[in-house]
Amino acid sequence: MPKGIKGKKSARIKILKTKSGVIHTPFFMPIATKGAVKNLMPAELKEIGAEIVLGNTYHLWLRPGDELIKKAGGLHKFMDWSGPILTDSGGFQIFSLGARAEQRFKKKNGACPVKSAAGGAKLFNRVKLTDKGVYFSDPVDGKKYFMSPEKSIDIQLNLGSDIIMVLDECPPFPASYKEVKEAVVRTTAWAERCKIYFDKKTKNLKNEKKPLLFAIVQGGVYKDLREKCAEELVKIGFDGYAIGGVAVGEPREKMKDVLKWALPFLPADKPRYLMGLGRPDEIVHAVESGIDMFDCVIPTREGRHGRLFIWKKKNLQGKFYETININNEKHKKYFLPVDKNCKCSLCKNYTRAYLRHLFVTNEPLALRLASIHNLKFYLDLMNKLRD
Ligand SMILES: [Zn+2]
Repeated sequence: MPKGIKGKKSARIKILKTKSGVIHTPFFMPIATKGAVKNLMPAELKEIGAEIVLGNTYHLWLRPGDELIKKAGGLHKFMDWSGPILTDSGGFQIFSLGARAEQRFKKKNGACPVKSAAGGAKLFNRVKLTDKGVYFSDPVDGKKYFMSPEKSIDIQLNLGSDIIMVLDECPPFPASYKEVKEAVVRTTAWAERCKIYFDKKTKNLKNEKKPLLFAIVQGGVYKDLREKCAEELVKIGFDGYAIGGVAVGEPREKMKDVLKWALPFLPADKPRYLMGLGRPDEIVHAVESGIDMFDCVIPTREGRHGRLFIWKKKNLQGKFYETININNEKHKKYFLPVDKNCKCSLCKNYTRAYLRHLFVTNEPLALRLASIHNLKFYLDLMNKLRD
């Protein structure tokens, strides 16, 4: 029987120490894809209670480049964010490009693209996956790149990340048992290579200057593969563990199963991170299951479309929130705040009528105010979960 949480509720109040400061768990990471949380200044993020942001390795590597960011003094200095930063490995974006290319191919040809036998390489238009790493082209300018587990670590060290993610293979949904099994074997082997390389590169750093290294549990919607992947990664030993390959198009109910399968194998004293999820009720469930860390595009993306999260009650039981579409005619003469229970700069200073006016006249301030509000909703949710 693995160590862990099996059989007990495991929402844990703890802190996570990083080289750029302490983060209170459970926490939500606003996404600064290209080194900026869309429409927000770092000071505004701090004001609404964000303690950490997430940067995307793939995007920063391609533009402006990790070497340039290193020369600028690292990502913290470059974007003027002094708090902790987590960077992903870059793999997810590379694979989602490949998956999109495959979908286009299937649509056109009604069949799967060529799978070459040599070295188990898969070729989806411009993305070629081998045991060594991934070859791909930048869809913007066609420039060719090679990403390996070691390269991903190098880029993230150049960025100055506080929490570094290992390179993994994230198969799209649906994927056959055989395909997912191959991905688990590769993910585990790559995680080990990352760990060896990371240890070598950081061996002269004092503990307080050292970033944390997190592994990613894959295994799709297959119980034994999730268990095996978690077990193998824990044997190698990391500072934290993420559940990957969720929110990739599988039925949302499957997420609960995935947590039930993988979490009992992960050590209770290490942080657990559910990647790319989710809606507020999904986050509540995941925290109750034992997850400590989240990132998701929902609050900012929904905000930019004028969909705002509103508190329905103070506790987190049942339907505790709703979303409104501010573009709706019914808000035209609504001279009260978006959410009377919210203390963000939108709700403190403006009415729904004003925000609707900004949206229908395409004023950029609309995007900024809506993003601030929705992120504050998510950060307040994490606060409530901590209580
Ligand atoms: Zn608000």
